[in-house]
Amino acid sequence: MKYISTRNISPPASLKEAVLSGMPADGGLYLPEIIPQLVGRSIDTLGAMSFMEIAQKISTKFLSDDIPVSHLQEIVEHSMNLDVKLHQLDDGIAILETFHGPTMAFKDFGARFMARLMSYLIRGDDRELTILVATSGDTGSAVASGFLGIPGIRVVILYPSGKVSPSQEKQLTTQGQNIQALEVAGNFDDCQRLVKQAFADTDLRDQHMISSANSINIARLLPQSFYYAYTAGQMMQKPGDLVISVPSGNFGNLTAGLIAQRMGVPIHHFVASTNSNDVFPKYLTTGDFQPRPSDQTLSNAMDVGDPSNMARIRFLFKDDVKLIRSKVSSWSFDDQQTLDQIKDIYQRYEVIIDPHTSVGMLGMKEYLKSAKGVTQGVVVSTAHPAKFPESVDPVIGKRIPIPEQLAQYLEREKRAISMSTDYGEFRQYLTDTLG
Ligand SMILES: *Cc1c(COP(=O)(O)O)cnc(C)c1O
Repeated sequence: MKYISTRNISPPASLKEAVLSGMPADGGLYLPEIIPQLVGRSIDTLGAMSFMEIAQKISTKFLSDDIPVSHLQEIVEHSMNLDVKLHQLDDGIAILETFHGPTMAFKDFGARFMARLMSYLIRGDDRELTILVATSGDTGSAVASGFLGIPGIRVVILYPSGKVSPSQEKQLTTQGQNIQALEVAGNFDDCQRLVKQAFADTDLRDQHMISSANSINIARLLPQSFYYAYTAGQMMQKPGDLVISVPSGNFGNLTAGLIAQRMGVPIHHFVASTNSNDVFPKYLTTGDFQPRPSDQTLSNAMDVGDPSNMARIRFLFKDDVKLIRSKVSSWSFDDQQTLDQIKDIYQRYEVIIDPHTSVGMLGMKEYLKSAKGVTQGVVVSTAHPAKFPESVDPVIGKRIPIPEQLAQYLEREKRAISMSTDYGEFRQYLTDTLG
C-alpha cells in the first residue's frame, strides 16, 4: 500500500517513508492510497468481535502488504491492549470511553501504535531513531508513555517551562529510560520552532535519524479508526441511526472516524463538536475556511485555530463542502456551556465527564434537537475527568478522586535538562547525545 499526499505533488510514499517522515515534502498530509473495504460478513460480525479482534482485522487490511501478519499481530497485541467501554447513559445517548490508557486520554491509542510500528520499520538499522516532540502537555505525555522502553528509539520532549500543569510535567519528566525531557525557557511556539529547525538542519539529519511524533502522522490516525468500528458493532442490534459526536481540535479523531465510515462501517453521521475555536463549524456554514489564532478555553487540548487535519477532510470529500455537510454537522460551545453541561450530566446520571467530553455532549444534544427518526447517539469521551480537577471539582461540588494511574507520577522525581530558546544550544545537546 502506498501513501499519497493531500496536495498530490509529492510522489506516493511507502509506509516506512510516510511514517518516519511524518509529512510529505509538498506540505500536504499522507493518506492511504486506497481505503480497504469491510463488506458483507465482515460488517455483520463486528458486533460479535472484541476490540482487539477488530484492531487485528482492520490493521491487517491496511498494513499486511508491508508487514508480515504475525509481526503485525504482535504490534497490535502490545499496543491496543487498552479497554474501550461504551457506557449507556439513557435511551439514545451513550459515552464511548477512550481514556483507559496509561495517560488517560485517547491519544494513548495513536502514540502506542505508532511507537511499535516505528520500532518495526527501523529494524535492522544499526542507528538509533530519535523522536523529537514539542508539547504543550497531553501529546508529550502520551508519546513519552507510548515509546517508553521501545528498543532502537529515543525520545526527546521539549516543553515550555512553567506552562504545563504540575501533573503533566511529572508525566513528561519522570519516565526515564529512553525518554529525555528538555525544559525550555520559552513558550510552546519556541519549542516547536526548535524542533522545526532541527528538521530543516540537513547536516544534522545526514548524521542522525530523526523523526517526529506529532498528530499529523498517519500512524496515529489508523488505530483511532478501530474504536469507531467497535462502537458500530456494539450498537448494531439497536434500532435507528448511529451518530457519533467527536470533541475536536486538530480533527485527527474525527478524520479517523470518517476513514472508518469510508471503510463501510455503518455510521450514519458525525458531529464535530468544538469549543469557542470555531473555524470548522464556520467553514461548514459558509464554505470558507478561515484559520485564526487560537483562544484559550477549559477544553485546552482543543484550542486549535488552524486544524491540521482539515487537509485530509477536504481531500476525502473532494473539497466539496456540501458533501462534507451530508456526513458531518458541527457546532461550537463556550466555557460556561461546558461547565453547565458537566453539572447537568452529573446531576442526571451521577457520571462525571471532563470538559472535552462535555463539549462533545453539547454537540450531540444540539444534533438531537433536529434529528429525524430514531438516533443512537454516542459521544466520544476523550479524557478522564480527573485530569481536569480545576474545572470539574467546583461544578460537582466535591473533589474528584485521582486514579492511581495518574497519582503515581506525582510521587516521582522530576528529571529535565534546562534549555534556552537558542537553536545552537539545542543542536549541541543533540549532537552530544545522539547515536
Ligand atoms: C487531543 C485531544 C482532543 C482533540 O483531538 P483532535 O484529534 O486533535 O481533534 C480532544 N480531547 C482531548 C482530551 C485531547 O487530548
